[in-house]
Amino acid sequence: MARPLIADIDLDALRHNYRLARDQAPHSRAVAVIKADAYGHGAVACAQALEALAPAFAVACLEEAQALREASITTPIVLLEGIFATAELEHVETLDLWLVIHSDWQLEALLAYCPAHPIPVWLKVDSGMHRLGFPPAQVEAMWARLAAAPERACDLHLMSHFASADALQSADFRRQLELLDDLAIRLAAPTCFANSPATLAWPEAHGAWNRPGVMLYGSDPLEASNEASRRLTPVMTLRSAIIAVRELAAGEAVGYGGRWRAPRPSRIGVVACGYGDGYDRHAVDGTPVLVDGQRTAIAGKVSMDMLTVDLTDLPEADIGSEVVLWGRATNGQILSVDEVAHHCDTLSYTLLSGVLPRVPRRYHGAH
Ligand SMILES: *Cc1c(COP(=O)(O)O)cnc(C)c1O
Repeated sequence: MARPLIADIDLDALRHNYRLARDQAPHSRAVAVIKADAYGHGAVACAQALEALAPAFAVACLEEAQALREASITTPIVLLEGIFATAELEHVETLDLWLVIHSDWQLEALLAYCPAHPIPVWLKVDSGMHRLGFPPAQVEAMWARLAAAPERACDLHLMSHFASADALQSADFRRQLELLDDLAIRLAAPTCFANSPATLAWPEAHGAWNRPGVMLYGSDPLEASNEASRRLTPVMTLRSAIIAVRELAAGEAVGYGGRWRAPRPSRIGVVACGYGDGYDRHAVDGTPVLVDGQRTAIAGKVSMDMLTVDLTDLPEADIGSEVVLWGRATNGQILSVDEVAHHCDTLSYTLLSGVLPRVPRRYHGAH
């Protein structure tokens, strides 16, 4: 008998979320961001599922792009961080990729290279996040150099990333957007600024392209959800089962360090899922789980291969009962990965992309 832990991936839900991203921005095209193995969902399967819908994909590095090309994905692919070494340009060309250029050496490398066909380039501006990109004062000069080399760079776009698009009404966000609009007008540049929260909540930030990522997987990226974000639906269900049940007297403790102590006579269920599968070890007592589609909570520290849940108020639950760590239970109940992340003092991004390879992915819906 196989270990019951599985990540069920609903490809119809992925397509539903992609259409939602697209329909929120009817004048933009949406690059589906499928870096980090599609946030843990499996990049090849997700790309295949979105191939007929998405005009482009975005990944973090050449290796991720190569895996898609090896799976016969012919859709344009953007390298979000561009190249990491000059020698990669050759592969950018043979794999037919689009390139982000965010720093001097990348620009010089491209201008010194002679591709057989010009490479589509997204020039990245640092509009305030201070991570990647050219300072705004340098952008016009860089743009002009690329524009003057049409045999090397083509289809120029102005790109930037927001530091706080999830917090509506943030002054930082407004400042970033004003600066970018100003640059785009001066350069007459097509733009690509919006991540998931900006796609959902900031039409002013929509450009020729948007770059929705986490929303495609059903996580709500907004601090305060809006009408559109409430229509997102989970793509991954992390599903397992109860493998043992313990009866505890009041005062007895559960798990490493005895963190959880029974406040009353209690029934504890042991679930086949732990931090060795990617479930967050920081989950506090009270972190929600669904057992047979009913909400209950983690009781005791997460171990490597197991975690423990309180079944005291679920007398029907027993060995074999379905446990959903996040996603959709068989009875239709949903436990959002965002809510679980909140209890782990983290984000849906780390939980989803953190599901380890030892958890089998099982795909549903046509590819
Ligand atoms: C990951 C990433 C995105 C997608 O961000 P989400 O918050 O997941 O929508 C967009 N742009 C860049 C540059 C990224 O690295």
